[in-house]
Amino acid sequence: MSAYDPSNIFAKILRGELPAHRIYEDDRAVAFLDIMPRAPGHALVVPKAPARNILDIEAADLAHVAQVAQKVARAQMKAFDADGITVQQFNETAGGQVVFHLHVHVIPRQEGVGLKPPQSEMEQPDVLAEQAERLRAALAD
Ligand code: 5GP
Repeated sequence: MSAYDPSNIFAKILRGELPAHRIYEDDRAVAFLDIMPRAPGHALVVPKAPARNILDIEAADLAHVAQVAQKVARAQMKAFDADGITVQQFNETAGGQVVFHLHVHVIPRQEGVGLKPPQSEMEQPDVLAEQAERLRAALAD
């Protein structure tokens, strides 16, 4: 497996070098909206620690990311009146990983509505901004 590369997109978001619609942050993790959502409200949870994926992350950081994913899922149920939540996490190219900083996808689902294909369409910034606002409010509840 390759070493962690700090020039990946999510490392740049964590350092504030690239913008993102952030919905949650604590001392060890950040959550923000996926720029090409597979469903409205599709969020990504990332550890602040520089981990490539599940194969090299410290167990405590992985556990913390899972806890934040649960908070985000609960907020999505409220903010999007969701019927369910899909959680996905990909590792290495063969496992479907495209960005090499560990992330967990947390995706609100509506009964009978399929997911869009991965990375199919860039969402409008104003749509993401409104959804992020809704999620921040639900997370603060
Ligand atoms: P994976 O590595 O798990 O296959 O997926 C990477 C995810 O990152 C995709 O869902 C893609 O839409 C998302 N993504 C790629 N570039 C950016 C970006 O610059 N900003 C945000 N917020 N998401 C991104």
